[in-house]
Amino acid sequence: MYRTHTCGELNIKHIGANVKLSGWVQRSRDLGGMTFVDLRDRYGITQLVFNMETDPDLCKSARKLGREFVIQVEGVVAERSNKNKNIPTGEIEIITKSFQVLNSSLTPPFTIESHTDGGDELRMKYRYLDLRREAVRKNLELRHQMAIQIRNYLSGENFLEVETPVLIKSTPEGARDFVVPSRMNPGQFYALPQSPQTFKQLLMVAGLDRYFQIVKCFRDEDLRADRQPEFTQIDCEMSFVGRDDVLDAFEGLSNHLFKSIKGVEITEKYPKLSYEEALRRFGNDKPDTRFEMEIVDIKELTAGKNFNVFDSAEYVRGICAEGCAEYSRKQLDELTDFVKKPQIGAKGLVYVKYNEAGSFKSSVDKFFSPDDLQKWADAMGARPGDLMLILAGETESTRRALSELRLEMGRRLELMDPDVFRPLWVVDFPLLEWDEETKRYHAMHHPFTRPYEEDLELFKTDPGKVRAMAYDLVINGVEIGGGSIRIHNEDLQQQMFDNLGFTREEAAKQFGFLMGAFRYGAPPHGGIAFGFDRWVALFAGLDSIRDTIAFPKNNAGRDVMIDTPSTISEAQLDELFLDVRKIE
Ligand code: ASP
Repeated sequence: MYRTHTCGELNIKHIGANVKLSGWVQRSRDLGGMTFVDLRDRYGITQLVFNMETDPDLCKSARKLGREFVIQVEGVVAERSNKNKNIPTGEIEIITKSFQVLNSSLTPPFTIESHTDGGDELRMKYRYLDLRREAVRKNLELRHQMAIQIRNYLSGENFLEVETPVLIKSTPEGARDFVVPSRMNPGQFYALPQSPQTFKQLLMVAGLDRYFQIVKCFRDEDLRADRQPEFTQIDCEMSFVGRDDVLDAFEGLSNHLFKSIKGVEITEKYPKLSYEEALRRFGNDKPDTRFEMEIVDIKELTAGKNFNVFDSAEYVRGICAEGCAEYSRKQLDELTDFVKKPQIGAKGLVYVKYNEAGSFKSSVDKFFSPDDLQKWADAMGARPGDLMLILAGETESTRRALSELRLEMGRRLELMDPDVFRPLWVVDFPLLEWDEETKRYHAMHHPFTRPYEEDLELFKTDPGKVRAMAYDLVINGVEIGGGSIRIHNEDLQQQMFDNLGFTREEAAKQFGFLMGAFRYGAPPHGGIAFGFDRWVALFAGLDSIRDTIAFPKNNAGRDVMIDTPSTISEAQLDELFLDVRKIE
């Protein structure tokens, strides 16, 4: 028997017990005549004591233990004089009677502590060591707990978990597919699913009524902190539902997770913001509503004062940062530098300080009188002591920059409390999105999304204005999930493909199976998919999804531990009928 208890289990109640423990040497300290070793496993840390006076041989061999050696010890639980109230085992220690080295270890390349000295790349290369750190392990524990709660809750609501294939035909969800060559069908390829979208719709045609799956999805796109080439969705679909049925069902899931995992009870219905309203008030379609600082349009108030920057701009809007009128030159310069960063892209920043005494000081005093500035202040709800920050330019890019500035001010003023959660739905997304590169419309969500009946006429005159029955769940500025009510009849689906510029042949070749299924009594249906990694990251308080995944890829899409992607042998290539072009 390797152990009677784990390293996280023993406490004051076990005093006097003879125990066996197994684990890793976290660290050891020699103090006078004693040696202390912290023994660690997944469950915690237990202090072992070796006494030079009572057992010099044992103590001497304990002094040879290196970090991360795997050992088994036998000893007696004793009360500690120097108690550590921060850990559950902190009131006891083990007076060691014997131990055995089960395996030695090289010195690890970084410290296996919550705050490690290992950089990202090193941690990923030795991920099996990184995962020994409590800070990382507890994310996997959280992930597991969330998965259990999701399964229990959805199962209780009659959702069936059904597995869908991983080797499929490409479904257009806006990203590139990863493809897999078929040996048995030379020259032909499978695609890895960007999501099980068409399969879950077919399950509705099949009468399964309520489906879910915690499922891997694959998208070959450029990576950012919150993206991985393979990621996990909580994928869901329901039959005989309208938009609000879906939103209600998944507000239920979300509330359940908040309560069971975070201990947060949310009783109010989630606000629903239209896409248009989200852009207008917050500048983006995933607003962080933990703080207000809403965007205000002052274009009309600024017109005709010969300030060309504003007069020539489509969009002149600002935000009011409460209590920031005292900002120094340096702080204002920092904000200007922030909005001018290439990824933010504004040309400059106009500020107006509404001083405590009621006077104004602005970067545009030459053009605008105190009366003018007072009007802006009234529009923006600014009071003495506040700072107004204004951006002007072309609508889309300026709105994006102002939204970033709002978030930056939220961060600076510490208005984004990680313990406060503000879930909301963004609804009524546009169905189509114009793509300048290809000069055609793309489905903003995916081509299976149902347009509003009353907008169908707009297809002919102004396709960009057609609204979709699509929705996103947004929590604290993070898009946690998105979905839609689907098209369930062949005619409308065909019309959608026509509008997206698919020829009839292309549509039939790619989606014949789905349109064929729609001929056999497809029920009205809709669904949603949540980014599981992101939800875990949000609950764990992490900015990146990387540490919610046991073995993630780096920003170049590489797994540096197993060193892949990698080349394959000539024999494998031959078998697949593949030639690889020379890479310059
Ligand atoms: N398949 C969609 C996605 O991955 C979600 C959905 O429409 O249910 O974004």
